[in-house]
Amino acid sequence: KEVIRLTDIVKNYKVGTQVVRALRSVSLQINQGEYVAIMGASGSGKSTLMNVIGCLDTPTSGRYELNDKDVSHLSDDELAEIRNSEIGFIFQTFNLLPRNSALENVMLPLVYAGIKKQERLERAEKMLSDVGLADRVEHKPNELSGGQRQRVAVARALINQPAILLADEPTGNLDSKTSEEIMHLFSEIHKQGNTLIVVTHEEDIAHHAHRIIRLKDGQIETDVINPNPVY
Ligand code: ADP
Ligand code: ADP
Repeated sequence: KEVIRLTDIVKNYKVGTQVVRALRSVSLQINQGEYVAIMGASGSGKSTLMNVIGCLDTPTSGRYELNDKDVSHLSDDELAEIRNSEIGFIFQTFNLLPRNSALENVMLPLVYAGIKKQERLERAEKMLSDVGLADRVEHKPNELSGGQRQRVAVARALINQPAILLADEPTGNLDSKTSEEIMHLFSEIHKQGNTLIVVTHEEDIAHHAHRIIRLKDGQIETDVINPNPVY
């Protein structure tokens, strides 16, 4: 089943009198259960594409369908609703609430989704246990190592069972050993049937994905199946 369909996506930024063509007619489809890496040099359009796919920004022109729904021309409120229900975000900087425990951070999306407290607790505890943090639920982010913080962020991203998991340089702040642990966790999440999109400039990270899309100057340069994904 197709989860994402981008057709002729163009994104221009106006800077003074200049127009920056960040995406020039990008078309691609991603099916449920795919594990895709988006690569490219700095300035090639990765963040812009990630922002469009993540419904953080709308394209200048072109069509974006997410789960068969046209999301190309929605209002900011409608986009926020799609983000909360359909997309799990993972960032380089973790973006956890510093004053809240791991458990509270993971429960938060369920609060917005209107899930009752007891179920929130049970689901968040289960999810933290699944990412290997059963003994860290009461820890606040600054009481956790970098890898543990990213695991909390992964649990938070997955708790609503989103249609896609979108990770932007997820290992950018981690040492190489911890990075490998997080990529191993991603592989496990992929095996469970989740759809993963990882934006990265690191070849070692991209090689865990099963499909690698390379951007150049706002266009898709190559889009290939990875014959030997790591793990
Ligand atoms: P990448 O993530 O691959 O480094 P970006 O998507 O951030 O690439 O940028 C693509 C192009 O769009 C670059 O030329 C960049 O300078 C430009 N760009 C990105 N964001 C903005 C913005 N908010 N305003 C103007 N230009 C931007
Ligand atoms: P790493 O060397 O991997 O960064 P740390 O030495 O920071 O790990 O942490 C080791 C363990 O101690 C971790 O499991 C973390 O949960 C715990 N820990 C780290 N800092 C604190 C803290 N301020 N309060 C409570 N537990 C902490």
